[in-house]
Amino acid sequence: MSTYETDVVIVGAGPAGLFSVFQCGMLKLKTHVVDVLDHAGGQCQALYPEKFIYDIPAHPRLTAQELVERLLVQAEPFSPVYHLGRQVVSLARTSDNRWRAGLSDGSEIVAGAVIVAAGCGAFGPNRPPLAEIERYEGRSVHYFVARREQFRGKRVVIAGGGDSAVDWALNLAEIAERVMVVHRRPKFRAAPDSEAKLHALAEQGALDLVVPYQLQGLDGEDGVLRAVRVATLEGEIRVLPADDLLAFFGMSMDLGPIAQWDLTMDGAHIDVNPATMLTNLPGVFAVGDICTYPGKLKLILMGFAEAAKAAHAAYGVVHPGQALHIEHSSTAGIPG
Ligand code: FAD
Repeated sequence: MSTYETDVVIVGAGPAGLFSVFQCGMLKLKTHVVDVLDHAGGQCQALYPEKFIYDIPAHPRLTAQELVERLLVQAEPFSPVYHLGRQVVSLARTSDNRWRAGLSDGSEIVAGAVIVAAGCGAFGPNRPPLAEIERYEGRSVHYFVARREQFRGKRVVIAGGGDSAVDWALNLAEIAERVMVVHRRPKFRAAPDSEAKLHALAEQGALDLVVPYQLQGLDGEDGVLRAVRVATLEGEIRVLPADDLLAFFGMSMDLGPIAQWDLTMDGAHIDVNPATMLTNLPGVFAVGDICTYPGKLKLILMGFAEAAKAAHAAYGVVHPGQALHIEHSSTAGIPG
């Protein structure tokens, strides 16, 4: 497996992690960024991409997704290396006083400093408890829609009762051969307007509402789905012929391995010195929602300021003894 070397490894590609790339880049520190999700953006992208945010300075209103896109563009000149879909599972000191981050795919990143920007911990979908579901994941069972077109002409079972399930049912009904929406209650937890559209489409026969049913099992071979079995609480079973299952049961967040890294924690948060964002471990900084100190606010703009402090402090760790001459970006431009 690969071993990479860099100046700073950033754990988490949420807004605080992405802005840490920029701040490190301005100081000519190279970065690798790891996120367990297969896309950057943390909570903004995973939980509320289409909601407007109103408290980003100088942006009176932009969607969470636009914010993420702009942060990625801002980070781009520094050519960060993204390791998406991978979790940082271990953090250990090397014999030459650097840090070795072990990733879930077995690769390692050795860096002079670490910025932990892990929010509330690693995100993951809530998986329905179906036997051998992992055999189908990524092929016929999905927790996100990465590419709408992949469902064109397919028979798609959508499970869940919230906004994601309802919105994707409305959306995919336009291109799928058949959309079947499985929910354990007749009432959905979606925006009233969307729910009304869902029922209207069902009445027109443009999609099937399979309620009140719960997922019971998957039929297929080699990760290719043939049918989804669903059952009522009374045990009445239906078999839905299907090519794909989209399961929308929300996301869970798990501090996971971070709790084992000997960091001084205050509950689920990492204690830092607010002057530098340094944790109790030398060269390990924490920024964004994961860190805590007196006066901490869990706001994106706080994460941005913390990223600036962490990057400046990390410079002294990566280049010990070298003076850092602070120049404004308007003077220095973007370092080449
Ligand atoms: P996150 O966005 O949580 O990102 C952390 C990332 O780290 C995640 O992607 C996670 O998968 C990854 N990660 C964690 N552990 C690991 C690991 N071991 N290995 C690899 N990856 C890991 N804030 C505002 O300022 N204004 C708003 O209007 C606003 N609206 C909000 C609306 C909603 C519905 C929600 C839920 C939050 C809102 N917030 C808002 C809060 C804001 O989204 C958070 O403060 C912000 O996302 C925190 O950024 P972060 O980078 O610290 O962490």
